[in-house]
Amino acid sequence: MGFCINCGQQHQDGIRFCRFCGNQQPGEQLLARLRSEAEQIHYQRFSAGQPHNQNNTMARVQETRQQADLAAQQRHQNQQFRQPRW
Ligand SMILES: [Zn+2]
Repeated sequence: MGFCINCGQQHQDGIRFCRFCGNQQPGEQLLARLRSEAEQIHYQRFSAGQPHNQNNTMARVQETRQQADLAAQQRHQNQQFRQPRW
């Protein structure tokens, strides 16, 4: 089974023209080329993964900042607490 590249209707493999809209369908060679191109694009997206890494870095930076803020607050409280009252 295949799908028309023009109207998207499902039709049998190997036909040259869509029976719904009459659009000429790609041949086997073109289909194979399109499939390999799609696989390459998918592989490139999968292996690059830059947005995912960026998100991880941003999340880590925010987490570190929050921990630093927390540590600073605790230090501040400790200093207040330990301040000698003359
Ligand atoms: Zn069609």
